[in-house]
Amino acid sequence: MLTTGKAILDVANEHNFAVPAFNISDWAMFKGIVEISEETNAPLIVAIHPDEVAHIGRDMIAGIIERSHRSSVPIAIHWDHGGTYEQVLQAVQYGFTSVMIDASMKPFDDNLAITKKVVDSAHVLGVSVEGELGTIGGNDTYAEGGSDTIIYTDPDDAVTYVKQTGVDSLAIAIGTFHGFYPAHLKPELKLDLLKEIKGRVGIPLVLHGGSGNPDDEIREAARIGINKINISTDIKVAYHNKMREVLGNDPKTREPNAIQPACIAAMNEVAAQKIELFGAAGKASLY
Ligand SMILES: [Zn+2]
Repeated sequence: MLTTGKAILDVANEHNFAVPAFNISDWAMFKGIVEISEETNAPLIVAIHPDEVAHIGRDMIAGIIERSHRSSVPIAIHWDHGGTYEQVLQAVQYGFTSVMIDASMKPFDDNLAITKKVVDSAHVLGVSVEGELGTIGGNDTYAEGGSDTIIYTDPDDAVTYVKQTGVDSLAIAIGTFHGFYPAHLKPELKLDLLKEIKGRVGIPLVLHGGSGNPDDEIREAARIGINKINISTDIKVAYHNKMREVLGNDPKTREPNAIQPACIAAMNEVAAQKIELFGAAGKASLY
C-alpha cells in the first residue's frame, strides 16, 4: 500500500534495519523495483529526483501512485533532493508522500530556516520530510555535484537542526559519495560518528551514495542507526550494462519487450542484494 516516508522509516528505526530508496526514471525500472520488493517482502521507497521527474513527466507519477496502492508491500514515493520550497509544494501537488529538502550547501542558519518552513507546510498536508546536514559530495550533475570533498556532519549541529526543524529523517555525511567513488579518496564510513549522532537525535538517519563503500560497513551502518539508503548508480549501471549487451550491434534488435526484461533482471539482481544487505528482506510483515 501507499504510505508516508515517516510510517516506513519509524518501523525501520524501531527494528534496526534500512529501507532501500531506489531512484527510478522510467516505467520498466519502476515496475521491476516494485516486483523485486514484493518478491522479497521488503518495504520500498521509490525515489525520484527533480531531473528524473522532468524526464518521466508528472502523468507517470499518477501511475506510480496507482501501482503503489495495490502493492503487497508498503511504498512511499519520495522527492529526492528538493532544492526549494516551491519545488516541495510541487511534489506535494503531484502526490508524493515524502520529500527531501536539501539546503545542505547553504549556511547552517539558512538550511535550518528553509527546512523548518518546508516541515511546517508538509506536515499539515501529511507529507514526511527529510533534511540534510553536511556535504556528501558528488561527481555527477545531481545533488552536491562538483564538490569532491566530504564535510562530515557535526553532531551538535544535528541536535539543534532536528530539534528546531522537526524533520522526520536526516541525511548525514559520514563517508559516502554520490555517484562513483573518487579514486583519490578511500571509502570508509565513520561508524563512531554515526553512533554518536544516532544516540543524540534518535530519528531515522539516511545514507546517500553508498556505491563505493564496502558491504560490511554498509551492513553495520544499517544495524546501528541508518534507516534509509539511497541507491541510484548501482542499479542504473546494472540496467544499462545489460542493455548494451542485449543491443549489441544488431540493428534488428528493436522491441522494448525483447530488450528490457533482461535489463530488469540484471537490475533486480543488484536490488535484491541491497535489500538483503540492508536487512530489509521480509520486513514488510512488520507493517
Ligand atoms: Zn543524494
